[in-house]
Amino acid sequence: MGAHAAEDCHKAYSALLAVSGPSAILCPQLEPNTSLDWEIQKLGRFPGELNDLNWVLQRAPMQMAMHDWKQISTDTTLPPSRDQICSICQPKLPIITDPKSGARSEKAQEAARYERSIKLQPPSYILLSRVIDEQAELRFSVNIRTMAHHACGRLVGLVHASDVPKVDISWRLVTNTLDLAKRSLRAFTLSSNTEDTAAENPPGFEKGVTLDEEQRRSLGWMIAQESEEIDPFTEEEVDEAILPAMAC
Ligand SMILES: [Zn+2]
Repeated sequence: MGAHAAEDCHKAYSALLAVSGPSAILCPQLEPNTSLDWEIQKLGRFPGELNDLNWVLQRAPMQMAMHDWKQISTDTTLPPSRDQICSICQPKLPIITDPKSGARSEKAQEAARYERSIKLQPPSYILLSRVIDEQAELRFSVNIRTMAHHACGRLVGLVHASDVPKVDISWRLVTNTLDLAKRSLRAFTLSSNTEDTAAENPPGFEKGVTLDEEQRRSLGWMIAQESEEIDPFTEEEVDEAILPAMAC
């Protein structure tokens, strides 16, 4: 995260699908280019935005699916504030905190800057297109880095300030959104402390007052949670972007 220059996030697109062919068939609505530059269209904002290309896109998802998670980075240190992740994807919040009272308030000038920054954030998907010599080229592209920055931003502040949290970042491409809705989650079970080791009665209780066996087991569990050897608590955040024209 921190190793990348912030402006990289506007350019960090990878092509998911590249299509080329005669412009009269592929996309007659596109104007011929006068240079080699690509036209950029933000995707994912309007339901019918790629209707003209549906016939091209309908066959694409099967070939694009990458159901396994691909790891981008591991053990990356999560900074203490969101804007340290990336000033583009996580612009500084326009909030000031009174050092004495701890009261939080919004700074008017900063709020305008923040709103502008939010509007200029790179979209998750874009379409690059150009027409040269009656040949059209289309590249449907995704910005994995900006999605990773959004997910990491939501993890900031969830852990105690004295900890130095580490994050592993992965991504995957799922083309069947119905499968996502059907995914089976682990059954929730209420755990019990019947197997926990009972702690000693705490010192300093009034004479004759002791904890019950169950209470001492609960106390033993609580002490164990504060031990240095306890397994770390894992928090997960997902940033999801759906491109309806490519979903099936
Ligand atoms: Zn970013």
